[in-house]
Amino acid sequence: MLTGLPNRVLFNDRLEQGIQKAQRNSTILALYFIDLDNFKIINDSFGHHVGNKILNAVTSRLKDTIRSSDTLSRLGGDEFTVILEDFDYIQGTSRLAQKILKMLSEPFLIDNHTLYISSSIGISLYPKDAQDAESLIKYADGAMNKAKEEGKNNFQFYSNEITTQALNRVAIETGIREAIKYEEFVVFYQPQIDASTNRLMGMEAVVRWDNPKLGLIPPIKFIPVAEETGMIIDIDNLVMKIAMEQFGKWYKEGYNPGVLSLNLAIKHLEQDNYIEKLHNNMMKFSLDSEHIALELTESDIMKRPDEAIKKLKKISALAIRIAIDDFGTGYSSLSYLKKFPVDKLKIDKSFIDDIQEDESGRSLVKAIIALSESLKLDMIAEGVEEEAQKDFLVDNGCVNIQGYYYAKPMPSEEIQEFMKSRMS
Ligand code: C2E
Ligand code: MG
Ligand code: MG
Repeated sequence: MLTGLPNRVLFNDRLEQGIQKAQRNSTILALYFIDLDNFKIINDSFGHHVGNKILNAVTSRLKDTIRSSDTLSRLGGDEFTVILEDFDYIQGTSRLAQKILKMLSEPFLIDNHTLYISSSIGISLYPKDAQDAESLIKYADGAMNKAKEEGKNNFQFYSNEITTQALNRVAIETGIREAIKYEEFVVFYQPQIDASTNRLMGMEAVVRWDNPKLGLIPPIKFIPVAEETGMIIDIDNLVMKIAMEQFGKWYKEGYNPGVLSLNLAIKHLEQDNYIEKLHNNMMKFSLDSEHIALELTESDIMKRPDEAIKKLKKISALAIRIAIDDFGTGYSSLSYLKKFPVDKLKIDKSFIDDIQEDESGRSLVKAIIALSESLKLDMIAEGVEEEAQKDFLVDNGCVNIQGYYYAKPMPSEEIQEFMKSRMS
């Protein structure tokens, strides 16, 4: 009654419904048990009146932290639960736990007292840990008690293995945040060659994290976390600035690096000022739209294709070319492909690998080439390592090649040598 939240009976109901829905849609469900640390002490020393106000304040902070589709309940005393539905990553659950811990450890101002509490959280997952409500509750409760034993103000998953992963992830997340602050990212460039003329057509900029302790860290180690947390926006902005400045400089010095391809997370396009920033950098570094291309992965576009189409149209209106990266791995429907305002397909490495495998591998590559020809799209093959792969592609009409066969991604000084050696 006090907090206006669903009680135990209603909570059980919602959990049953949530499980059924997750079962139908093959999705994950997470159950959080949140228990306030030290609540009893506050209640005993300041009285029920203050205790009740704290519970109300906790309720509103929790409501602000979760989405409206999540279910918050109070089981009694200082024990709250959240049912989280509809999320892509198990790791997403640790983010919410972190947020709740942070929100509840901020001071509460009540009746002229500044009060500090914290919380301990236990999490169980459907279907990983259990398939029925009763066991999920038991496990989330158990995990919460483990969090208390671990010294309070922390979260634990029922499964130890996920807790370890989550903690690892927290470390990566903190690391990326620092790396953004101290600009620890460097940009490598990988040449894209027209194999029929041997000309350098352009380069793809790929990011590396130059960690002071661990050395160069490849993108697969941190891009997924950066994407999930939104920090990819800062990283992409930094890469855009560094690479555009470098290209501007090369052009000014008389080199011809061709078109700069930037990888872009679709999340970034959700920010309306992306295009403005791109434009500002073009002015600042004297680059024209024909000097820039953007690569978006097919799977990223296909997450919300209709929105992506709208955003991409704004970019192509600036005459900036757009390529679909990792093409063939993201389940585009052909009807969408026609609607995407894209200029180029980048055939994924996995198909290139299969060229030497068997006839069906080769047929598939030929089919992709025919597809892009009939849609009048440019194409490039990525991950080409062998001469035989290059020859097959050229013979079948795909002349643009990127891959170790020509060059690995290199830092700017090495790329400059690469360009020099080709100029003479
Ligand atoms: P991608 O855009 O498909 O980039 C191509 C990746 O394939 C690069 O890996 C490149 O080093 C690698 N590669 C190129 N040729 C070959 C080859 O012949 N053999 C093999 N085995 N590998 C080859 P990298 O640099 O590790 O990047 C991985 C992915 O990380 C990229 O895939 C891209 O999706 C993402 N990424 C990299 N930089 C950025 C960035 O600045 N922003 C965003 N949003 N994503 C980035
Ligand atoms: Mg790419
Ligand atoms: Mg790719």
